[in-house]
Amino acid sequence: MISALSNQWLQALQADGCRITRSRKVIVDLLLNSDRALGPIEIYDLARKEYPALGLVTVYRTLEKLEAMGLIQRVHLPDGCHRYLRSTQGHEHLLLCTQCGKVVTFSGDDFSKLSDRVSQNTGFLIQEHWLQLFGVCPDCRKHL
Ligand SMILES: [Zn+2]
Ligand SMILES: [Zn+2]
Repeated sequence: MISALSNQWLQALQADGCRITRSRKVIVDLLLNSDRALGPIEIYDLARKEYPALGLVTVYRTLEKLEAMGLIQRVHLPDGCHRYLRSTQGHEHLLLCTQCGKVVTFSGDDFSKLSDRVSQNTGFLIQEHWLQLFGVCPDCRKHL
């Protein structure tokens, strides 16, 4: 299933004018297999274990393209850094570990009360929200 997705992503990149190279395949596979949000340098370091000739510029370009195509999303951390993650399907919220970058998605929130109150106070018609929580995952809590 991952390899089918990996091919889809590579085909999307190719349709967007990128050559399919070993470097791109390694980057795509890393992003697809990761349950953590990864920063560009992290991706670079991990991908070079698979393919030492990889260039950092390719990492940045590939991330840019994948983000523009909506296949990955950029998540922001409280320290101002950002990392990349496979895009979530439909309406989901993110819970992100500030220590290791592990990401869990959840849905089933009830924001209607808050949303109604904000709407009343501001006169806005609220159409959409985006929620990202930060915390420390169970594994990292053991080492705190
Ligand atoms: Zn963690
Ligand atoms: Zn929601």
